[in-house]
Amino acid sequence: MDREFGVLRGFRESLPEEFELERAIVERSRDVFELYGYQEVGIPTVEPIGIFEIKSGEEIRHRMFRFTDMGGREVCLRPEGTPAIARMVATKMRDRPLPIRVGYVGSMFRYDEPQRGRFREFLQIGIELIGSSEPLGDAEVICVVDALIKSLGFREYYIRLGHEGILRGVLEKAGIGEEAQNAILSRIDRGKVEEAFKIFEEAGGDAEYRELVSALLEPTAGNDLEMVDNIRGLVGDIERCRFSLDNLKEIFEILTENDIKNVKVDVGFARGLDYYTGMIFELYCSGIDVALAGGGRYDRLLALFGWDVPAVGCAVGVDRVALAMRERGFTLRTRKVERVVLSPIDRESSRYAIRVANRLRGMGVGVVLELSSRPPGSVISRARKAGVRFVCFVGPRESMENTISVRDLKNDVSFVLDPEGVAKIVGGSEPRL
Ligand code: AMP
Repeated sequence: MDREFGVLRGFRESLPEEFELERAIVERSRDVFELYGYQEVGIPTVEPIGIFEIKSGEEIRHRMFRFTDMGGREVCLRPEGTPAIARMVATKMRDRPLPIRVGYVGSMFRYDEPQRGRFREFLQIGIELIGSSEPLGDAEVICVVDALIKSLGFREYYIRLGHEGILRGVLEKAGIGEEAQNAILSRIDRGKVEEAFKIFEEAGGDAEYRELVSALLEPTAGNDLEMVDNIRGLVGDIERCRFSLDNLKEIFEILTENDIKNVKVDVGFARGLDYYTGMIFELYCSGIDVALAGGGRYDRLLALFGWDVPAVGCAVGVDRVALAMRERGFTLRTRKVERVVLSPIDRESSRYAIRVANRLRGMGVGVVLELSSRPPGSVISRARKAGVRFVCFVGPRESMENTISVRDLKNDVSFVLDPEGVAKIVGGSEPRL
């Protein structure tokens, strides 16, 4: 095929058997979200760029798919869902009792450099808990992700837990303004520590605190609570740091009490989104060096939309989760209707075939209709290949008697039944139509 018409780099097509797993992950997520009281909402795919320019962070801003629409507006394909949720809640859900729990599922678009587990269009499922600043809320969001990941079969994974207020507290104390802080944290997030220090110096950061930032970035700076206490010794006189460490410790303790033990506290952890103000986390599993999920607290984002309430949330990357599941050989079945193949034995019976197919569908049986009559042997062998167990035939006799001739390919037996009887043996679920 001409390259011009091929799939763009970083974008993917999913064949039915590939898509099944992604769909199953989304279905499972919806079930888990519901168990925690999150209600799904819909958000636009195309947004004015301003909504992301204010607070989403340098990395996301530079990687947006932007274009001018026909009305001359500067718009983009959404790179993430949180700002849209913040806007929706702040403008349309203010009369509801707090906290508000909402979730979303949708494709996000970022002009990232494609690599394993990194695409330019990817599916995110996210939840946001709005209106609570309690550490219990931070812990809940992590618990939801943990419950989902566990229910998908993962056992070997860990949660990297940090707090935006620790590094920011030190940077603030060093006299660095918010914009430069954002730039520094974004570099740290991408592992570009030297660049981060260069910005620190250019922004006139106090040298005394440069050492402190270095100490926080040491890989072993705060990997357990004892080390967090050591860090407290170093930053204890900075109010914001002290508060952040206490907050982090409390969240950590709630998680541990809830049997989430695979948490690694990292005091030098930064995420590339400017709106985070508190706890931040990412979830990793072995064999994939990019995060499966990530999130954090963003207490000042809703104020930009006119409602000053705290919030915390996270997003899970479905494509990465699917990749990790495939590599581990995990499978997950979608809720499926049982399918039969139904074939008219001659042209005259096709009207009856349509009628009876609709009756079966009405009783929760999936029916794939043969559109032209073909020899029974061919119908059966195609059904076998497709993994279908029951093949139904209808002809003049069935049409007169209002019955269906059924061949059970598993047990190699045939019988004649009315539509209700077929629904019963096929295991037609509750009525769907
Ligand atoms: P973020 O919105 O950056 O916090 O990302 C949340 C989650 O979305 C990540 O943990 C990933 O699972 C997923 N994600 C982010 N960027 C990509 C990408 N380029 N390709 C695939 N998944 C992604």
